Amino acid sequence: MIRVTENFRKIQELLAIATSEAKRPPGSVRLLSVSKKKPLAAILEVADAGQRDFGENFVQEAVEKIKNSGRDDLIWHFIGHLQSNKTRDVAEHFQWVHTIDRLKIAKRLSAQRPHDAGDLNVCLEVNIDDEPQKSGISPGEVPKLAAEIAALPRLKLRGLMCLPIIEADPEQQLIPFAKMRALHEKLRAEGLDVDTLSMGMSADYAAAIKEGATIVRVGTAIFGKRE
Ligand SMILES: *Cc1c(COP(=O)(O)O)cnc(C)c1O
Repeated sequence: MIRVTENFRKIQELLAIATSEAKRPPGSVRLLSVSKKKPLAAILEVADAGQRDFGENFVQEAVEKIKNSGRDDLIWHFIGHLQSNKTRDVAEHFQWVHTIDRLKIAKRLSAQRPHDAGDLNVCLEVNIDDEPQKSGISPGEVPKLAAEIAALPRLKLRGLMCLPIIEADPEQQLIPFAKMRALHEKLRAEGLDVDTLSMGMSADYAAAIKEGATIVRVGTAIFGKRE
C-alpha cells in the first residue's frame, strides 16, 4: 500500500523548499496532483489531506472519477491529448485544459462549455524541444494561436504548458523551461493577460520552479509508479 497522504505532505514540503530556493514568494507555485490510472480512493485520500487540484489524461476514466467522487470542491485539470470527439465531456466536467494545440479544439470547447459553468481555463501545449513525435505547437506558432484563443468566449487563456525531453541533469533541465519563460514573457509584452506556466513533473519540478513555473504537475511522487 502506497502511503499517498505521506507522499503528498512530503511533496508539499519539497515544493516549499524549491520555491524558497528560487527566491519566489511562498504559495506562488500550485501543485497539480496527477492521478491518471490511479483509483478514486487514492484521490479522495489526498483530497482529505487538503489537495484540491487533480490532473487526468483520459477522458472516460476521468469523467467516471469526477462523477463518483461525491465532491464538488475539487478542481479537475485535463492534461492528456484531446481528440475532437471528446471535447464535450471535457467542456462539461473540467475547469482546466492544459493541452490545447489547435484552434479547432479550442473552438469546440468554447461552443460546448455550459453557460452556467464559468470560463474554462486553458493553456497552450508547446512542443518546446521540437520533437517530431510529440504533440504541442512549435514555439513560433504560439503568439498567433494565443491571440486567436484569447478572443474566444467562455474560454480563459491562462498561459503555456510543456512536457520537455526527460533530462537527468538539473542544469540541462533548465534549458527548455527558460525558453518557456521567455515565450510567456513575450505574450505578456504583446498585451495578453496570461499568468500560468504549467511545467515540471516529479523528476524536474525544482528546475521548472527556478524558471517560473506557476503549476507543477506531480504524479509518481504522490501516487507511486503507474502500471
Ligand atoms: C503523467 C503526467 C504527469 C505526471 O508525471 P510524473 O512523472 O508521474 O510526475 C505530468 N504531466 C503530464 C502531461 C502527464 O501526462
